[in-house]
Amino acid sequence: MTLPNLPFWKEYPTRDSEWVRQYPTRHHSIKEEEVFGKQQMGIYVHIPFCNRLCFSCPYIKHQTDKTITRRYLDALKTEISNYAARPYVQDHEITLGYIGGGTPTALSSAELEELLGHLHSELNMSDDVELSIETTPIDITKKKAETLYNNGVKRISLGVQTFVQEELESIGRPSDPKMLENAIKICQEAGFTNINIDLMHGLNGQTMESWEYSLDKAIELGVTCVSFYTYMEFAQVSTKRRKLPPVPTTDVVDEMFMFAAKKLTENGFDGYFGDCFAKPGYQPRYGERSWSENIPIIPLGPTATGHLKDHWYFNEPSINKYIEVVNSGQLPISMGQYISKEEAIRRGMILGVKASKVDRKMFKHLYGVDFVEKFQSEIQDLESKGLVELTQNELKVTDPKGWYYLDNISKTFYSESFKRYPQHLGSDITEFQSSVAEWQPIEITTRP
Ligand code: SF4
Repeated sequence: MTLPNLPFWKEYPTRDSEWVRQYPTRHHSIKEEEVFGKQQMGIYVHIPFCNRLCFSCPYIKHQTDKTITRRYLDALKTEISNYAARPYVQDHEITLGYIGGGTPTALSSAELEELLGHLHSELNMSDDVELSIETTPIDITKKKAETLYNNGVKRISLGVQTFVQEELESIGRPSDPKMLENAIKICQEAGFTNINIDLMHGLNGQTMESWEYSLDKAIELGVTCVSFYTYMEFAQVSTKRRKLPPVPTTDVVDEMFMFAAKKLTENGFDGYFGDCFAKPGYQPRYGERSWSENIPIIPLGPTATGHLKDHWYFNEPSINKYIEVVNSGQLPISMGQYISKEEAIRRGMILGVKASKVDRKMFKHLYGVDFVEKFQSEIQDLESKGLVELTQNELKVTDPKGWYYLDNISKTFYSESFKRYPQHLGSDITEFQSSVAEWQPIEITTRP
């Protein structure tokens, strides 16, 4: 008999008689929880309404209107139920969630209660799920804060922007510093111990002194997290018309970043995501865990983004179309991308770095590769520029220099095919779809 050319190990006889009946063949001790335990999963819920539309805002949002919010809430609940019915989702338990917008608290207390009740009754929520919500000092009331807290929301984030009256006026915010302080107190009295405020630097007429004043106020009010953002350049079109004082120069804005990083860390905050700072133990799980541990996220609502089953994708941006698709019984998935194994590894680095550090053991466990070996030249280059530090156990972004260049560091790990393609803002990005043959990558200006 002539044997066909079969793959044998040389340790085995020519005709292998070990009777194969199971695989894998290496074992370790295992417990019931490992076999039947639920995997972790997160949710992102988008509420695309605002009670007042800010002129400097690039996101898709709608003026709050009772008719549309009712139709929207019904569709959102249907979408939640549609996901909850899928076996893949039933194999998971929700451990983290983020309700963003728009302004989620543009909904009434009753509507918020209805939404949260539906999430809890439909999805398999973990007992210690960390739900975060965004609000503005104008929208938050005692009743809404209590409704949120009593329905399982444990972290609240307020878009304060500045504690300086003239700066509030320059960005068209109908609030005064006292109202901002009061909004924070309302949240504290409702039971929230984890409160984030967003601040902005680079505002019209802002100086180092006024920036320091806003940071001091945040520290004095006892908030647990502070995030700060640079005022967006494109808003200058309207500011010129309104004859406002000029925005600080880029050098001053840069200095403001370093100053804030120093001040906040000296006052007991730890940095994460480059421009977010939290007291120890208050860093939100949502971004940190979902990025560094690759936890799948269900996107709920128009423009919401998530990643499930080897795809990252986002939902239909048009609210009317979203409602229509959901009511027809489908998931409103609009555009996205399959994540190949190679891209999953890169994504792990790109998002892991955004969470400030990448754990070597965890990375190997998740992706089966040692990132130090795979990205040797990229890491060496970043190290030589003083942007990251590599230890035996982790790659850590240096503070504050690395925090400042965090997005550049992150983009170092993009694959060639995605370089120079922009992040999407939840808007209609039809023109960026790769299927459009004549489309050319846009020029993106990043810091050197
Ligand atoms: S409240 Fe927030 S989401 Fe709404 S328009 Fe203003 S900045 Fe944009």
